[in-house]
Amino acid sequence: MDTPDAKHSNIGFKPQSNPAWTRDELILALDLYLKHRDALPSKHHPEVQELSRLLGRLGRALGLSESDSFRNANGVYMKLGNFRRWDPEYIKDGKTGLAKGNKDEGLVWDEFANEPTKLAAVAVAIRDAIEGQTATLPELGGGDEPDIEEAEEGKVLTRLHRFRERNRSLVKAKKQEVLKKHGRLRCEACSFDFAEAYGPAGEGVIDVHHTRPVHTLKPGEKTKLSELVLLCANCHRMVHSSRKWLTVEQVRALWRKA
Ligand SMILES: [Zn+2]
Ligand SMILES: [Zn+2]
Repeated sequence: MDTPDAKHSNIGFKPQSNPAWTRDELILALDLYLKHRDALPSKHHPEVQELSRLLGRLGRALGLSESDSFRNANGVYMKLGNFRRWDPEYIKDGKTGLAKGNKDEGLVWDEFANEPTKLAAVAVAIRDAIEGQTATLPELGGGDEPDIEEAEEGKVLTRLHRFRERNRSLVKAKKQEVLKKHGRLRCEACSFDFAEAYGPAGEGVIDVHHTRPVHTLKPGEKTKLSELVLLCANCHRMVHSSRKWLTVEQVRALWRKA
């Protein structure tokens, strides 16, 4: 049998120790789902077991759970079954899939199911980070920031993005480059200049934002200064204010319009 039986649905016995699936986990599960769309693997399948182990690591890295039962193979298997109900290929014959999962499954499905290349790239980037190939624990364990909306790419890559754009030496190099060229630091979206507004105390004050989504960076690829932009705190906040992070051009257009 290929699909989890509805009577084994996980409704009603959600142990306290297991928090709702994060977007990152759903992305990884959807990636596995689409590889096996025609016939879902059992909980004994090596890839299900492997994803279960990986999610355990992710749970510890993000501080979601220390529990050994977190995302066990059965939970992963169930989650694949949850995706069934979003799959038009599956439900077209009147089948329904597991009735209830969490609402983010539908969002992740809508955002990624028809973009397999992007989905695969995001899944690889999350994996690489959790496995320690592109990220370290302090980078991932930084916690969520109240003003920063989690990116479409999920928590892991959001934290990496933020950690990297606050890299002191990179920030310093970017500011020096701009100062050398233009003699002043201005927001690239709204032209705000802290030194102009606040006098000498505002000199050198400005945020740096990294314009490339983390999943488009190759492992070990160094951040280029040309991929960094200077933004005032307000415009930077606007960039990160919705899940689909805005581009600098979009923020500039909003500012002009207003
Ligand atoms: Zn600005
Ligand atoms: Zn940013």
